[in-house]
Amino acid sequence: MKNHVKALVVGGGAVGTSIAYHLARAGWDTMLLERDELTSGSTWHAAGLLPYFNMSFATTHIHDYSIRFYKTLEAETGLNPGFSVVGNLRMAQSQARMDEYRLYASTAETCGVPYEWLTPAQMKERWPLMRTEDLVGAIFHPTDGYITPADVTQAMAKGARQFGATIERKWQVDGYQWTGSEWRVTLTKMAEKGGNLVPTEEQTVITAEHVVTATGNHAQRTARLLGLKIPAIPVEHQYIVTEPDPALVEWRKAGNPEHPVLRDADAKWYVREERGGWILGPYERNAPARFAYGCPDSFRADLFPLDLDRIEEEYMSMIHRLPSSETVGLKDDYNGPICYTPDGNPLLGPAPGLRNMWLAEGFSFGITAAGGSGYYLAQLMTEGEAEIDMGALDPRRYGSWMTTDYAVAKNEEAYEHVYILHHPDEERPAARPLRTAPCYDRMKALGAQFGQVNGWERPNYFAPEGFDDHAARSFRRGGWWEYTLAEARAIRETAGLIDATAFAKHVVRGPGATAFLDWFTCNKLPKVGRVNLTYALTCAGTVRTEYTIVRQAEDVYYLVSAGGWHAYDEDFLLKAVEDKAAEFGPVIVEDVTTRHGVFALAGPNARAILAGLIRDADPATALSNKRFPWLSARQIELGMVPVNALRVAYTGELGWELHHPIEMQNHLFDRLMEAGAAHGLKPVGARAQNWLRQEKSYRAFGTELGRDATPLEAGLDRFVDLSKEFHGKAAMEAKGIRSKCVTLLIDGPEDADPWGREALYDGETRVGRLTSGGYSVAFGKSIGMGYVRPDLAVPGTRLSVRMFDALWTAEVVGDSPHDPSNARIRADG
Ligand SMILES: Cc1cc2nc3c(=O)[nH]c(=O)nc-3n(C[C@H](O)[C@H](O)[C@H](O)COP(=O)(O)OP(=O)(O)OC[C@H]3O[C@@H](n4cnc5c(N)ncnc54)[C@H](O)[C@@H]3O)c2cc1C
Repeated sequence: MKNHVKALVVGGGAVGTSIAYHLARAGWDTMLLERDELTSGSTWHAAGLLPYFNMSFATTHIHDYSIRFYKTLEAETGLNPGFSVVGNLRMAQSQARMDEYRLYASTAETCGVPYEWLTPAQMKERWPLMRTEDLVGAIFHPTDGYITPADVTQAMAKGARQFGATIERKWQVDGYQWTGSEWRVTLTKMAEKGGNLVPTEEQTVITAEHVVTATGNHAQRTARLLGLKIPAIPVEHQYIVTEPDPALVEWRKAGNPEHPVLRDADAKWYVREERGGWILGPYERNAPARFAYGCPDSFRADLFPLDLDRIEEEYMSMIHRLPSSETVGLKDDYNGPICYTPDGNPLLGPAPGLRNMWLAEGFSFGITAAGGSGYYLAQLMTEGEAEIDMGALDPRRYGSWMTTDYAVAKNEEAYEHVYILHHPDEERPAARPLRTAPCYDRMKALGAQFGQVNGWERPNYFAPEGFDDHAARSFRRGGWWEYTLAEARAIRETAGLIDATAFAKHVVRGPGATAFLDWFTCNKLPKVGRVNLTYALTCAGTVRTEYTIVRQAEDVYYLVSAGGWHAYDEDFLLKAVEDKAAEFGPVIVEDVTTRHGVFALAGPNARAILAGLIRDADPATALSNKRFPWLSARQIELGMVPVNALRVAYTGELGWELHHPIEMQNHLFDRLMEAGAAHGLKPVGARAQNWLRQEKSYRAFGTELGRDATPLEAGLDRFVDLSKEFHGKAAMEAKGIRSKCVTLLIDGPEDADPWGREALYDGETRVGRLTSGGYSVAFGKSIGMGYVRPDLAVPGTRLSVRMFDALWTAEVVGDSPHDPSNARIRADG
C-alpha cells in the first residue's frame, strides 16, 4: 500500500467513490479507503431513485450533473450502472401543491432541467392502473428515474482506478493528525471473524496532503476523531417491496413501458416498479433518529426491524392510488439508517478550523447527489472554487452553538418534511425557541412571528394576537402580506425598529490589522470614525463575505456580517489571518457576536426619536449631519445605555444601527418604544426589510451576493477600489462580466410576488434568473433583483418573469429606483 498520497478519501459509499473518481480525473494522486467493502454502508440498501426535484439552485445543479454523469459511465468503464430512465411523475392533490411545482419548475428552468405538465386525464391515459380523479395535475421529468446504487458505485470505482486512483478495502481510519503541512492518518486493518468485522493488531500510517471524509452513518465517530461537531445523524427510513401485482404484470406483458417513479407528495410516498411488484417508500411521521452518539463499529450492512404501523397511512394511500396493489402481499422490507442534517442538505466542503480537511457527510439523497457532489467538491479542492456557489452546503453553516439534541430534533424534522409543501415562507418548528435576543419576550408580546436564522429567533413580521402563521403560508401572498405592507410603509412614512441582534460581529485589531484588511477586502478602508461597505473575495474573485466595516481606531476595526453565516465567515477570516500573519504582522480577531445586541431604527422620524433619548453636551446637534454624518459611527449614550451607533440604513431611510451591550437590551428597547410612541414607531420584521432594500437595490448576501458572481458582476463597482491590490482581484478581473445584477419592477399577478427563484426571459429566450423578490410599497407593484445577460442590464429593457407558469412583464430599472440621490438617507436635522 502507498504511504503518501495527495488526496485520501475515507468511505467507499456512493459519495466517497464519486469524490475519488473526480479527484483522480482532475489528476490528483488519490486513494480511497473503506473499512469494509465498497457500498457496505447506506449505499447498499438505497432504493436508487434519482429525483431532480429540489428547491435549491445549488442542489438542482448537483442532481443534474449526477443524472447526466451516470448516463456516461457505461461507455467509460464498461460497467452498466443500471440506470432506468423511466421518468419521474410528481402528482398534486391540491392547487397549493401545483403552485409548489410551478415555483419549482421556474427554479428547474434556471438550471436547464426539462419538465412537462400533465393533467389527470393525461396521466390516466398513459398509466391506467393509477386512480387520478382526485388529482389536480402533475409535473413530469422525462430524463430521470432510478439506478442500481451498488452498480453505479462500482462503475465510479472502476472509473477512478482508470484515472489512477487506488482503492483499499478493509482498512479503518482510527486517527487524524495534522503536521502543519499534511495529515498523518492512522489505519487499522479490519478482518472478518465469525460474520463480524473486527479490528486486527495491524496498523499503518498514511500521509496525505488532503483528506475527505465521506463516512455516512459513521459521521459521529469521524467528528470525534477530528474534534469537530458534525450535525449528521441518521434517521430510520424504510421501504417495502410487494409481490408481483398481476395487473401490473399483465400491463407490462402487453408491451407497455415501465411506470415512471411515482410520487404522491401529499400522501408522502414514492413508488416504483420492482420485478412486477411495487416498491413503496414513505416519508412518514415519527421516524426516529439513530446513532446520535455514533454508529456501533459492528454495524455493517445491517437493518432495523420493519415498523409497519408507522407507515400504515402511507401504505393505505398507495392502495388508494394503485388499487390493484391491494391484494398483493409483501415480499421484502428495508429499514435502514439514512443520514440527515438539520436543513436536509449535506455537509460538503471545508471542515471548520482545520486545514486541507474536507467533509462530505450527512447525505440523505446520496445516490442522487453523489455524482454532482464529487464533481463540485473536486473543483473546490483542486481549483479553489467550484462553478456554483457551494455556500448552502458548506459544513461551516452550523456554529459551535449546535448540539446533539438540536441535530436530533432537526434531523427528524427534516425527514418528516421531505414531502410537506415547501412554502417559501415556511418556518420549521423543531428546536425552537433556542437562541433568543433578550427582547424576544417583548417582541413576542407585540405579536412577533419569528423565523429562525442560524438558530436565532428573528421576527419576520408582527401580527395581531391569535394570528396563525402556519395557516398564513402560501406560494402567493400569504396572510402575513398585509402586516408586512404596513411595516414597510411605517419605515417609509414614520419609523420602524428592527431587531438585528443576530448579525455576526468581529473586532479585528493589532499592528497588522490595517494591512491585513486592506488586502482581505476590496474597498478602501474607512477613516477612523467612518463606516464602509466592503467585500472579501474568494480566490476566484467572487464574493465570499459582505462586511459593514467600522474603523474604531487606527488599528481597530469592527466588522459586521450576515447573521446566518457567522461560523462560515469566521472560519474564512481566521484562516486568512493565520495565513497572512507573517506578512502583515500580528492581527487579533475577537468574536463579539453575542456580546452586542443590535436594533436598526429607520424612517423619517428616526432622528426625532433618538433626540428624545440622547445624552450629550449639545443634544440639539448630536445627530445632525455635521456631527453625525451618513456612513459614520459614534459612541453615544441613549439614556443610560452606551451605544455604538452606525449611521447606516439597510431600508434606504434615515436611520441608525444601535449596537449595544446585550445585557442592556431590554432597557434600551423599552426606552426606544416609549420615545417612538409619539412618532409612529412600529416594530418591523425581516420581510418588510427585505422588500425595502430591493427598492434601494441593496444586494443581500446569500441571494445577489455569493460565490458565483464577482462584485463587479453584482454591480458593486463603487465598493471596489481597483487602485489597490486585494485578495481575488486578478481573478475577478479575468472573469470579466458574465452576467449582471439588476433590479426589476414587475407587473405580476394580482395575488402574488416573486420569491427570487424565478427564471427571466427575453421573448422566448431564458436570459437570467431572479435572486430576490417581493413587493414595492414605493411603486405599488412587485419588485425583484436578479442576474441577466450583460447586454440586457440596461434600464428600460423589458423582460419577463415566469411565475405560475405564465410570463409577466418586468422592466429593468436603474439602481436604487426609490430615492436614487439618497436624499432621504442624508436628511439633516
Ligand atoms: C432505505 C433507504 C433508501 C434510500 N433510498 C435512496 C434513494 O432512492 N435515492 C437516494 O439518492 N438515496 C437514498 N437513500 C440514501 C442513500 O442511501 C445515502 O444517502 C447514500 O448511500 C449515502 O452514501 P455515502 O457514501 O454518504 O454513505 P455510505 O454508503 O454509508 O458510505 C459510507 C462508507 O464509509 C465507510 N466508513 C465509515 N467510517 C470509516 C472509517 N473510519 N474508515 C474507513 N471507512 C469508513 C463505511 O463502511 C461506508 O461504507 C436511501 C437510504 C435508505 C436507508
